[in-house]
Amino acid sequence: MVTKRQKQGMNLEDVQEMNRALVIRLLRRVKLCSRADLAKMTGLKNATITNIINDLISWGLVTETGIINGQKGRRSIGITLNTKAYKVVGIRLTRNYFIVGLFDLFGAENMVQRVPIDISVGSASVIRKIIDHVTQVLDTSRQFTILGIGAAIPGPYVRSEGKIALMTEYPGWEMVSIEKELSSSFPIPVFLEHDAKAGALAEWWLSPRHMENETMIYVAAGQGIGAGIVIDGRLLRGTLGIAGEIGHMSIDFAGPKCECGNNGCLEHYCSSIALVREVKEGLIDHPVSMLAKDQSFPAIVEALKGGDELVRKAVKKAAWYLGFGLVSVINAFNPNTIVIGDEMAKLGDLLLETVRNTVERHVLPRVYHNLKIELSSSTNDPALVGVSALVVERILHKPSAIPRLLEGSGS
Ligand SMILES: [Zn+2]
Repeated sequence: MVTKRQKQGMNLEDVQEMNRALVIRLLRRVKLCSRADLAKMTGLKNATITNIINDLISWGLVTETGIINGQKGRRSIGITLNTKAYKVVGIRLTRNYFIVGLFDLFGAENMVQRVPIDISVGSASVIRKIIDHVTQVLDTSRQFTILGIGAAIPGPYVRSEGKIALMTEYPGWEMVSIEKELSSSFPIPVFLEHDAKAGALAEWWLSPRHMENETMIYVAAGQGIGAGIVIDGRLLRGTLGIAGEIGHMSIDFAGPKCECGNNGCLEHYCSSIALVREVKEGLIDHPVSMLAKDQSFPAIVEALKGGDELVRKAVKKAAWYLGFGLVSVINAFNPNTIVIGDEMAKLGDLLLETVRNTVERHVLPRVYHNLKIELSSSTNDPALVGVSALVVERILHKPSAIPRLLEGSGS
């Protein structure tokens, strides 16, 4: 497939737009600073920053906050993003619930609804339900300008077609373009992203520990296993948008056949679904386990806190597989940080330490010593927060389009 040729030259307006987008990007990271701070961070002249801020204030994207202590303790007027005027809607679809939320330009949650679903009833009825909930959120948010809607969906997701390529154990979803269904229901832009990639964006945007020039891999270890690879602040997507599908990386060529066509796919060994299966099978040998009555994932997390022997064994086994899978990822991308998020991160230190020990034993010592493996510190749903960050990034990539958007919305 030949993709549209990108223009390579830049006109003066393009440069202006790029500088405006850069200022917004920096404000999203630092949240509050002075004009002088922005000049220093961007390397732009004070007069250029003044012009940019004037534009952004007139479009309602930026506000002044009053006096702050700026560089060298000098008092100056604070500049921040306007969190009151603009919002975005975030959606997260999982195999047993979806969430709809309203977010500001910093990715802070304003309103979140979690709706249980039975995904086996088919895509049409689930998508209808999602559309109804988003409509409700839009109806109750008329005082804001909603810039767009982002949906984080389980993968692998083929970006060019707006479709899920495969939802393991739930066939049928690969037939429907979720993007088309949502876009045709709402008059604002809709963006879709694979949940792991959205989680990676949230981790990168909201955690100041990540630097602009690093390779960070966010591993969404939940009902499936996926990864978002962020290099120098940008997501690696690949030709079709499925880069980072590490859940379908084989760790055993003689292992069980996966629906993707491969054998012994990583997610069959260390997803939360695999862990639940392992615990259920283990009950035969551990009849006195705390999980004799309830083997749901939340019950497993509780039993782990209570020191249940069956659960400890099962968690260690899943974490070993996860660590073993990560070794290949580390050798392919040489990241400086791996952040493990989603459901499996709730298993805490036992999971983390087992993953670290496994990786340490299987990679070069020099590689291991230049690598941090951590659990996500996010208390909110990272995929949901990340997909709303993605909407902000996509829309504010062209800040001068905002006044036209305002005319269009009639506000
Ligand atoms: Zn597979």
